[in-house]
Amino acid sequence: MERLTGIGVSPGVVLGRAVVLTQRTEVMRFPIPPERVEQEVAALLRSQAASRQQLQDIKARVEHGPGSELAALFDAQLLMLDDPMLVGRAESIVRAERVNAAWAVHRAYEELYHVFRSMEDPYLRERETDVADVAGRLRLNLRHGAKGPKELLSEVDGPSVLIADELTASVAAQLDWSRVQAFATDAGSRTYHTAILARSLKVPAIVGLHDASLRIAAGTPVVLDGTTGELTVAPTPAQIDEAHRRATPPRRRRAATTAAGPVSTTDGMRIRLEANIELLEDLPFLNEHGAEGVGLYRSEFMLSGRPIESVTEDDQYALYRSLIEQVAPRPVTIRTFDVDERHFAGPGRGPERRRTRPGLRGLRLGLANPAVLRTQLRALVRASAHGPLRIMFPFVTAVEEVRDARKMLAEVVSGFSGIDPTQLKVGAMIEVPSAALAADLLAPEVDFFTIGTNDLIQFCLAVDRTDDRVSDLYEPLHPAVLRLIRIVRRAATRHHIPVSLCGEMASDPALVGLLVGLGLTEFSMTPGAIPIIRHVVEELSATEARRLASHALRLATAAEIEQYLFDALAASPFQRSPFRE
Ligand code: PEP
Ligand code: MG
Repeated sequence: MERLTGIGVSPGVVLGRAVVLTQRTEVMRFPIPPERVEQEVAALLRSQAASRQQLQDIKARVEHGPGSELAALFDAQLLMLDDPMLVGRAESIVRAERVNAAWAVHRAYEELYHVFRSMEDPYLRERETDVADVAGRLRLNLRHGAKGPKELLSEVDGPSVLIADELTASVAAQLDWSRVQAFATDAGSRTYHTAILARSLKVPAIVGLHDASLRIAAGTPVVLDGTTGELTVAPTPAQIDEAHRRATPPRRRRAATTAAGPVSTTDGMRIRLEANIELLEDLPFLNEHGAEGVGLYRSEFMLSGRPIESVTEDDQYALYRSLIEQVAPRPVTIRTFDVDERHFAGPGRGPERRRTRPGLRGLRLGLANPAVLRTQLRALVRASAHGPLRIMFPFVTAVEEVRDARKMLAEVVSGFSGIDPTQLKVGAMIEVPSAALAADLLAPEVDFFTIGTNDLIQFCLAVDRTDDRVSDLYEPLHPAVLRLIRIVRRAATRHHIPVSLCGEMASDPALVGLLVGLGLTEFSMTPGAIPIIRHVVEELSATEARRLASHALRLATAAEIEQYLFDALAASPFQRSPFRE
């Protein structure tokens, strides 16, 4: 028996078996039982085969299009894919440590990264980015082959207690909270956020346990007391009896799964939940989770490393049409390529070009390369004949950009007969502070807004998320971020255009109440997060949320806002249990 003490942030006592999850650099690590090892290795090898096929296809296309000299880049990536130090090493990690394949790939990549980093030759050193591309591709392909934490959890008998290094909203969305009855985290830095998450989900929780996720073996019985902050590991029979007496009555939680159709708050505010999509393979999840449409299709994912000019109008048309037809009658919002210069071929592409100048990205880049944007718009306009389509421009910073883009779109439309331009909705992503502050000027120029908080936060706070030294300052609850969101929402309301929010904030159960309170009623998120957000919304009072948001907006710091949300959830007139008894 061992007793660990942290900070109890959400009350209740739960006895269950530990499920251990660690997450770093957005890659999850979780143990797998011995009988799963072969399946995990098989998934890894399938992912290698799929990646090989994709790279060969891309190479073949590149060889026959502009930028053919780039084909050699893909040869290098194909060699890396077969290097025993990558997939072979990952396989031995899966076998030796009995961990999920995606994590093993990440570990093998890290080892290779250090090898490349230490190379003298700057050209070879730069090859590190190719290793990153290959490892990323393997992990992406694994998403459809290997088991996720949700499936693994479903194999655990009885209630489980999640022990994690940290619990991000994206992981929370993947868990089956009808089985996970409580959680404990090592992390102390995002304590309040995690605490708000626990209270929003109404599960007992402890934070600040330092290294519990390293010390506790998967499957060990634990007693978690979210009131006192104590976690008893391998309790004695007497402690188990006591835990049974004190345990929060086991609730028959409704599994966060398939409910579909419209969702409303307790006081009847209709909230629209759509999905963010990167690959067409994700579409089955859309139906499974009851998305009301695609709020963001990140079209640049179709490039998968190819130079942007090599993707033809017909290639694009076929893909957009398939997407629209599969989602219809629900609408699809396709964002034009949000890339920077690296996706262009031609002289200068190569190691030095990877250190691309910041700023020439998204719609700006499209306008600077009108042939590329026009090709995409032609494909979109053709595809729009097959179902409801909304075209969205990324990285908008000024009214002129939208005007220029709309002018080009009007020219494209005029070249086709039978396309009704009024059916084609055109929107702007609001993800740069200049666009947010000038939202009242942009609103008359477009049919809808979509707030991209991922970029908005980073540009508003001058924080590069990939720079570890400042990534702690990336704070969705910063008063300036909340004010920008309110400005955009107000401008949209005044100009009678819809506004949705599609950044990671939308899929965070801890934040959705505040966002509803700021007046937002449309969200687009990773499909897996929809069920949990649906639950939180269904138990939310929009009136209370508005009161809470208006108070939160008067507070001076993110910490004060977090503390206030946390306390408000403890009192909880704002929200009832997201799970029915
Ligand atoms: C955003 O910036 O919030 C967004 C959704 O776009 P992306 O994450 O693709 O930059
Ligand atoms: Mg963005």
